[in-house]
Amino acid sequence: MVRRVATLSVHTSPLDQPGTGDAGGMNVYIVETAKRLAERGVEVDIFTRATSRRLPPAVELAPGVLVRHLTAGPFEELDKRELPRQLCQFTSGLLRVEAAHDPGHYDLVHSHYWLSGQPGWVAAHRWGVPLVHSMHTLAKVKNANLAAGDAPEPVLRVTGEEQIVADAHQLIANTSDEARELVDLYEADSRRVQTVAPGVNLEVFRPGGQEEARRRLNLPRDAYVLLFVGRIQPLKAPDVLVRAAAELLERRPELRSRLVVVIVGGPSGSGKERPEELQKLAARLGLTDVVRFEPPQAQPELARWYQAADVAVVPSHNESFGLVAVEAQACGTPVVASAVGGLRTAVGHGVSGFLVNGHDPRDYAVVLEKLADEPLLRARLGEGAVRHARVFGWDATAERLLGVYKSAVNDRVCA
Ligand code: UDP
Repeated sequence: MVRRVATLSVHTSPLDQPGTGDAGGMNVYIVETAKRLAERGVEVDIFTRATSRRLPPAVELAPGVLVRHLTAGPFEELDKRELPRQLCQFTSGLLRVEAAHDPGHYDLVHSHYWLSGQPGWVAAHRWGVPLVHSMHTLAKVKNANLAAGDAPEPVLRVTGEEQIVADAHQLIANTSDEARELVDLYEADSRRVQTVAPGVNLEVFRPGGQEEARRRLNLPRDAYVLLFVGRIQPLKAPDVLVRAAAELLERRPELRSRLVVVIVGGPSGSGKERPEELQKLAARLGLTDVVRFEPPQAQPELARWYQAADVAVVPSHNESFGLVAVEAQACGTPVVASAVGGLRTAVGHGVSGFLVNGHDPRDYAVVLEKLADEPLLRARLGEGAVRHARVFGWDATAERLLGVYKSAVNDRVCA
């Protein structure tokens, strides 16, 4: 029986706005699954590091879902790279919260990202409950797919991930590719790796009138709109889209009056150290009047941007899944994505968009030119996109997670 789960998200809070800083798909994943687990009778306490002195110890996110703030290190402006030093304090806070309840308060620990796996395994041992862990991204995979100028993930993280793989009762992979990577690169026992696809909120992200969306967003009716959504960092390669736009105009100068490239999101990681870089690139390529930058958006507004776009472009160097690609498709927008990681699952090549090998902007420009020329192809892919995205619902993700939780708890009881 799974009544109560301690979910750990040390380095980023489910209350943060995704699309900038350290908040992204993992935050969305935790919020969406926690709400649905609670609807199925499982209480979820999400533990995260307090980033301000003013935060209350606990906030109700939804009925049955509490966000608990733990003090670990200085409040504001603690760099993610400094977090490993604060894990001891975080773990101590976690153990103290549990100790204030009757024994056996939590039936299971689900940790997200390697930084949470470390406190997770201490707590799970201490409480005698299973540890379920989701990596979200893997350092070894990330290091093998680095963008130019991006710093590799440190040995500390690689070792941390190896330790979690060795210790977790179950590992959750987003795709079968990630499951294979856990086995091949981290020597995970394949019986302890479960593939659970993330989802998309199909009530928020749904097809809608492009004309109306454009009117509200102040985009011309006849524009050819290319959209990037996500954190602005080398790994996500928004520069590939900007360069591809320049290449497209080189090939087809007459598109100049119609082309609009929209970049939605804020800086993160090494992009945070050089926030102006992308604007400067657009200016260098003579695209200041073509590229429009928008701050991170709440999901209902984001849905409007997807609806307004002709094509969503996801040129990432690596992506464990790529929620943005699925959200765009759910809104009926075809996706042009790099053929890496989870994007190969998230996008149906030739069905809901196109996958491009590598990151040469010229290759993206060729596909974007074809899509500019063929509105019927765009329409066909848009319909395919809606069908493709429908497979990924958060209810299915929560059901699958609950199944993994139940068998982990049962195995533990029987062991
Ligand atoms: N997102 C958002 N507002 C923004 C930009 C992004 O809410 O302005 C959300 C987006 O809807 C998606 C998540 O951030 O759910 C990004 O997830 P993805 O898997 O694409 O990338 P990650 O951040 O995990 O690398």
